[in-house]
Amino acid sequence: MRYIPWVPFTEDHSARHSVLATARRTADLINALAGDGAAGPEEIAALLRAHGETDPLDLTPGDVAGMRQAAARLREVFAAEDTDTAATVLNRLLRDHTGPLRLTSHGGDTPWHPHLDSDDDAPWDEWFLASSCMALAVLVWDRRRPPGGVCASPRCPNVFLAQGSGAERRYCSRRCATRERVAAHRRAHAEAPPTA
Ligand SMILES: [Zn+2]
Repeated sequence: MRYIPWVPFTEDHSARHSVLATARRTADLINALAGDGAAGPEEIAALLRAHGETDPLDLTPGDVAGMRQAAARLREVFAAEDTDTAATVLNRLLRDHTGPLRLTSHGGDTPWHPHLDSDDDAPWDEWFLASSCMALAVLVWDRRRPPGGVCASPRCPNVFLAQGSGAERRYCSRRCATRERVAAHRRAHAEAPPTA
């Protein structure tokens, strides 16, 4: 079993909240799965636990390799420059990599909610790609803007979720924003003509 209860049985957790939670999990997984020294089964299982997934999490290196491929595909949605591009990328992923929309209650354990994977026990990579496409598609629909972005720091591969409203963010974190501001300041200082 490898599902996160989509909507808790409490009134104060709306489906909207769950969509955002899923999208956050997507961004965290893409970042964890990026790069050569990327995380293995234990790190990915820990991350899934941190996002509410319950044990046992029987992830194999093969599962993680499949999830890494899914992460590379999902990264294209975050790299989209505008809403039209994000929608086009999502439509391609939905056409080529997910099943039709279906409802599941996980055998009565959760309220009925939508899934795009083929089965409640689908492989990890299929689940990751399908649940991510679902959440990102709803965010495009709801916000009418790209669901996220890629960190503007040339030294950082991280993706991030866009804020619901207000100014666009450019960096994945305060840390990256500060580092790039300092670097830009140093460059400007170094290029400044010497003062007599
Ligand atoms: Zn960054």
